[in-house]
This record gives sequence, structure tokens and C-alpha cells, in this order.
Amino acid sequence: MTTTMNLPIPKIEGTACHDAVSCFVLSVAQKISFIDDDMIEYLNSYRREITMKIPLRKDDGTLVTIPAYRVQHNNARGPYKGGVRFHPEVNLTEVRALANMMTWKTAVADIPYGGAKGGICIDPKTLSKNELERLTRAFTFHLGDNIGPHTDIPAPDVNTNAQVMAWMYDEYSKSHSHDALAVVTGKPVALGGSEGREEATGRGVMYVLREVARDLKVDLSKSRILVEGFGNVGYHGARLIQDELNGFIVGVSTSKGGIYNSKGIDVKKAHRYYLEHSYLKGYPDVDFMSPEEFLCADCDVLVPAALSGSINDKIAQKTPARIIIEGANGPVTATANEILIDKQRVIAPAILASGGGVIVSYFEWVQNLQQYYWTHEEVNKKLERVIVPAYERVRDLSREKKISLRQAAYTIGLEQVAQASILRGTGY
Ligand code: GLU
Repeated sequence: MTTTMNLPIPKIEGTACHDAVSCFVLSVAQKISFIDDDMIEYLNSYRREITMKIPLRKDDGTLVTIPAYRVQHNNARGPYKGGVRFHPEVNLTEVRALANMMTWKTAVADIPYGGAKGGICIDPKTLSKNELERLTRAFTFHLGDNIGPHTDIPAPDVNTNAQVMAWMYDEYSKSHSHDALAVVTGKPVALGGSEGREEATGRGVMYVLREVARDLKVDLSKSRILVEGFGNVGYHGARLIQDELNGFIVGVSTSKGGIYNSKGIDVKKAHRYYLEHSYLKGYPDVDFMSPEEFLCADCDVLVPAALSGSINDKIAQKTPARIIIEGANGPVTATANEILIDKQRVIAPAILASGGGVIVSYFEWVQNLQQYYWTHEEVNKKLERVIVPAYERVRDLSREKKISLRQAAYTIGLEQVAQASILRGTGY
């Protein structure tokens, strides 16, 4: 297990997401007058990176060691905050990029956190429930004091959920000999979780789409909407866009491919089918498309809510979508972003549009610390009251400076973090 401090952003480029975040941060930071080169170096560096090999005793008695990471990017504005993902493609470079992005996401939403991310390089479908629990507990135990209610607060991300958070909470509390509900967010409601947390990222996507559509005078009931990804963000996003905005959803997809019907798709029905069959193929009265065909299909609005980097140059050239709402972390690559901006497409960036999850995580943390809980309606209202003004700040700056929503969001995030660092004094 190694812990390294103050590592500069690596010169070796890794993943599309990593390159995209670095590119967005650097290009915007250079234009902010009070951010000098030293500050840029600071903003683009990681405070702490934890690299582990977690021992896991399998049910059959064999021992395997599994790579796992927690990257803490910046805590100038408050404790580190960000999810933990379980995925076979997790690697340090990707986790760095995702941690980096969390810093700007919490700053854009103006909630009092920094940014972090964790990941275990495993396909959770290959493990039994007991193995998954042992792995989660070992990860939490080995993180030791690097996490804590006022240090670094993990949450769910790709392939992790409330149950995983319950194990993390329990393991941390036991190994620290005191109860620490606020050490993780996204817990089950029966165990200190917040009402509305599960659907929160999708709900945030829905609010941002509603605001963008209102500003562009787009009628969502007549706009063909595609949602890529049918996990927590994609499903709840699509469902809420359909139910609460009367949005015209024409396609939904999973990593295996998507279904499309120009007359519309009943999101809840398609999701029931997916849960039953673990597959969308075979769903009646639709065209089944490969993931790439799906992303290029006829639409007015595209909501990428799966993994990072899915909108590459090729997709950017082909998609007719006029509005893109990033529900996933970093779905649009740096060069694809250029192509889309040249074509005058409007993109609500992930550091704004996917902020609903961490905003309600913040509400969960506050409820845990005060031991006083809010209703689902109260949580939804409070989420709306945080994410809509965040959108308005980004939109107003983009109009004033004639820059994209992404540039405006990064400008706001970078300014907030740089200001906090300067106020805290030298040695930030
Ligand atoms: N994993 C979510 C995200 O990427 C939520 C993070 C959190 O709640 O801390 O925004």
C-alpha cells in the first residue's frame, strides 16, 4: 500500500476522461486573471493518492488481490467528497480525472466540499454477495483514517449502491470504535440515508434539462429525447423527464445496445422488462441498435448517462442532438466537445448537470450530523433550490462572456476553489 502526496498531474496521458478534464481545467484557468501558473499547478495536482491491493478470500478458499484506489484531489472548500465505483476498467488515471471533476462539481453547486473519487478494479457481477461485502469491508478498513465524516466522505457511483455504503459505514464505525453515520452518504433510508438520494442525480439532470429547454424555448413534449445508460442516473433521469416534464423519450440504452421508437418509449415499462431479462433486446415494437448506432440516432436531445468518453469525435460528427445534458461524469471527450461547439450545440457539462447526487449527499450528511430528517418532498425542493441557481449562475456567465456553458461552469468552479485556497493562506 503506498500513499503519495502532492503529485503533479501526470504527463503520460491516459483515458479520454482524464485528457478532457485536464484540457478543460487548463484552458479555462489560463483566462482567469488572479490564477497564476503556480495556482494552476496547484489546482491541477492531487493532495493524496492511495493505491492498494486488497486481499480477498473467495468463497472457494482461494485468495486474490484486487487493485483499489482513492484519490483526494482538493479540499480547499471542505472535506473531500465523491463516489466509489466497482468496475473492471477502473485505473488510477481514470480515478484521478473523476476526483478532479468532483472538486469542480461541488464548487459549481456551491456545497462545502472538495473532490475525491475511489474505485475497485473488479466486475461485481463475478462476486457472490458475501465476497462483495468482504471486499468492501477490506477496502474501508485499509482506507483507515483517510476517510471520515470531516475528512473524506465516499458515496455510491458506478456499480455501487446503498448496501455497499451500509457496509462501509458499519466497517468504519467498528474499526474506529464509535458510530459515524456521516462517514458515507447514499446509505439505505432505514440506516440514515436521505429520502430522494437514489433518484437525485437523475432528478438533477431533469431540472437542468428543464431550465435549458426553457431558455432555448424548446418544447420537450415535442423534442425527441435519447437517454444513454439505464442504471441509476439514466433510469431515474429518463423516468423523471417523462413523468415530470412530459418529455418525449424515444430511446433508452444499456452497454449492450439501445431501443428506439419514434413514437415514444414507456420508460417504466422498458425498465421492468430490463430488470426481468437483464437485457433490452427483445423488447416489443422497437428497433434495437448497437451502442454506437443509438448515440447517432435521430433526436433533438441526448442525455449521456453511462460511462465517460462515450461521445467521441465520430459520434459528435454524427449526432443530430441540439442539446446534450451530461448525466455521466465526462461523457464527451475534449475533441468531441470542440466539434459539438463548432456546430453550435448546447452542452450542459457534468460538473453542473450531474450534480444532483452529490447535492443530496450533502443533504444526507447534514441530516446525519443534526440527527433530524427531511421528507422526500423537502429534499426534492431543496435540490431544486440548489441546482437551478447553479445553472443560472453558469448560464448568466456564459451569456455575459459569450463562452460555452462548460467554460462558464469551469470558470465558476476554478474561481471558487482558487479563492478559498488564497483565503486559507500560503501552504494551501
Ligand atoms: N458518484 C456521484 C457523482 O459522481 C455522487 C458523489 C457523492 O455523492 O459524493 O457525482
